Amino acid sequence: MEMTEQDLIGHCSVCGRVTELMELLGRKDKFCLECSADLATVILLGTEIDAATVAGRNTGALVSEFNEISSRMLDRAQSAH
Ligand SMILES: [Zn+2]
Repeated sequence: MEMTEQDLIGHCSVCGRVTELMELLGRKDKFCLECSADLATVILLGTEIDAATVAGRNTGALVSEFNEISSRMLDRAQSAH
């Protein structure tokens, strides 16, 4: 996934921190560096889980990583608000 860098300070859409924000292509929300990296990973893992499911492979490790990063983002979002 490609990201465009913006000279932009504002509220992160996930954690609410006021910092320099990144814009993920195809999304109108903007995210801090940390959240955009996690979000990109979560999206990638989701794609890999789908592909593994279709291929009949074990998705356990992918799913647990997906859940771990998702809950980390959630924790960050909740602690910021
Ligand atoms: Zn953030």
